[in-house]
Amino acid sequence: MSPLQALPAVDRAEAEAALARLGARSVECALGDFTSLARGKRVAHDDFLALGGCKLPSVVLGLTLTAGEPDAVFGPMLPTSYCDMHLVPDLATLAPRPGRAGEVTVLCEPTGRWWSAHHGREIDASELSPRAALRRVVAAFEAEGLQALVAPELELFLLHREEAGGKAALTSARAKPGAMAREAACEAFSLERAGHFEAYFDELFAACEALAIPLSGHAHESALSQFEVNFRPGAPLAQADAVFRFKRVAREIAARHGFLASFAAKPFLDQPGTGMHWHFSVQRRGGDWPHLFAHPSGDSSNELGHFIAGLQAHTPAAMAFFAPYDMAYDRIALSDASPSHASWGAEDRSLAFRIPTSGPSARRVENRLPGGDANPYLTVAATLGLGLAGLRAAQAPHPGADDAHALPRTLPAALDALEASATLRELFGAPLVDAYVAIKRHEHAERSALADPRHEWDLTHLIELA
Ligand code: GLU
Ligand code: MG
Repeated sequence: MSPLQALPAVDRAEAEAALARLGARSVECALGDFTSLARGKRVAHDDFLALGGCKLPSVVLGLTLTAGEPDAVFGPMLPTSYCDMHLVPDLATLAPRPGRAGEVTVLCEPTGRWWSAHHGREIDASELSPRAALRRVVAAFEAEGLQALVAPELELFLLHREEAGGKAALTSARAKPGAMAREAACEAFSLERAGHFEAYFDELFAACEALAIPLSGHAHESALSQFEVNFRPGAPLAQADAVFRFKRVAREIAARHGFLASFAAKPFLDQPGTGMHWHFSVQRRGGDWPHLFAHPSGDSSNELGHFIAGLQAHTPAAMAFFAPYDMAYDRIALSDASPSHASWGAEDRSLAFRIPTSGPSARRVENRLPGGDANPYLTVAATLGLGLAGLRAAQAPHPGADDAHALPRTLPAALDALEASATLRELFGAPLVDAYVAIKRHEHAERSALADPRHEWDLTHLIELA
């Protein structure tokens, strides 16, 4: 894959005009790391223009979910001085902060160089950016005259967390404390139960409109207090940005309503888990029929199979992106409309790569492996990058439902597969893969050292931060 093009520095006049249009007095510079958390700073209008963004300590690129600093990262790959890096804003993402007059938010990518002893060379902070990794994959599609259209479906639980016998325990959320009974058993697709949460969803949908997050609808899903939100199709980078922002506003607005919105992959072991399903189609530029995955007659094309075969070939190595925490492997192992093999086919919800019934211009493959806890940039980059490798290799897919295609069952096994994968290293670059693996191993070790990891780590930290 061609080298990464860093985001260009902002043009001061252009930035000034964009801030003026939005009436901005301050700008929130938001950076996505390997978690789903936005980290950054709110800076004054003039400082943002003077710096063309802002500074942020490089430490944020190496932190675990619980702000741990792995020895394998700090020193070997990241400066222990915590020196500043520069956050370069992507002005195309400037948007008003919902409900905050005079404040705008912008998505940024990091830049700044330092020596990585582990890699024996200087690396740039952008090599550790999931968003930059996705931009590189999108550029590879463009270089081949292709583009992708993607649409996510996000599931989330609305929950209360209480202490029971000194342990964290989850229950379904009450829309207003005392206003109604709790959901006692799953009320799948209940319009009435969804209606109880109307005030929450109205506020969420309004915030999403301000942030240009293209939602199309929501419903109660098939688990206790679980909901699903659907997105319209769009360009890969814009959609990953939208999901990144969505997870944050869903959590923030839930906090104002007095409950938790959680994207953790398996909050209840006896209920279905939380999926972050992504639908992918590919179009070629020019020509009468741009849709690569089907013929005008309605038959699927060979290319659709090649795209899937590319995914299947490297699914074990990509699992650490689709299932980034130990809890995510409970969703894979206790399969309930969630996949446990790198399988593919039509209309079956236990398949990893499902072809929903669709007309030829909407023919697509749904990647059902990612859980709600997945990083959207890494997930989309891995799926498109492996799909593109499949298009180049032009192999037919295999059914994938046998033992030979079972997925890694634990986070350590998935991390070993990622670390050993030449294809994933080529796709994401060695610095990103090595830092990611080291951070995840540190999280796994921290969790494993606890007497009751599910309660003390999953339900204490991950449930809120996934
Ligand atoms: N909740 C299921 C999962 O964990 C998916 C249910 C559905 O088909 O939407 O992926
Ligand atoms: Mg669903």
